[in-house]
Amino acid sequence: MNYLLQGAKHKLISGLREKGIFDENVLSAFEKVDRHKFIESCLWRKAYEDRPLKIKCGQTISQPFTVAFQTQLLQIQKGDKVLEIGTGSGYQAAILSAMGAKVYSVERFEELFIDTSKFLEEIDHKIFTFFGDGFNGIPQFAPYDKIIVTCGAPNIPLPLLEQLKITGMMVIPVGENTQKMIRVLKTSKNDFIEEMFGNFIFVPMLKNTETI
Ligand code: SAH
Repeated sequence: MNYLLQGAKHKLISGLREKGIFDENVLSAFEKVDRHKFIESCLWRKAYEDRPLKIKCGQTISQPFTVAFQTQLLQIQKGDKVLEIGTGSGYQAAILSAMGAKVYSVERFEELFIDTSKFLEEIDHKIFTFFGDGFNGIPQFAPYDKIIVTCGAPNIPLPLLEQLKITGMMVIPVGENTQKMIRVLKTSKNDFIEEMFGNFIFVPMLKNTETI
């Protein structure tokens, strides 16, 4: 890897530490996964700045701090089965996979699904990608130890609560223009504990699929 990008990556990781990311497994996944590979080369010089960047279909690769924060909230263990809603560039999925999780990720834009699936296959065979509407989850592989939603949801979709394992956790940003980060712990079939972790801004979670 180019030494300028390598230096920028180390600076990003120490910045994440200063902003409150303490889980060493999360930080070492940031070390292992090259964010610049997930975006177009004209944006590489910005790849390790702590901000979201444009990808295809009017979507974004989330800000590194947001990726780190959501991942840290999930307390990922090796072997966890994780459902991600919003594959996008595949960066968040790759971070989870680098931590030893088995990742199932769903995307509603067919073009993003096709391109990102191909790319993820090239770099990491452990990620299973799906084209579909994340409001429905992926029932055929449920239950999941963890669920991560990477788009701003209008509410907490019921199918996702159902597909979460008892003792499992879901992290989901909920709200219209800005979102509150919510962590849901499933304590029994019908019992959940919710915690709130500050405001974030995500692209919206939209119903149905788009073929473009
Ligand atoms: N995790 C991604 C973030 C991409 S932005 C990354 O690391 O790059 C959020 C993504 O969620 C977008 O690609 C958007 O198309 C997708 N999305 C929005 N609504 C969705 C839905 N209902 N089902 C699945 N994906 C959805």
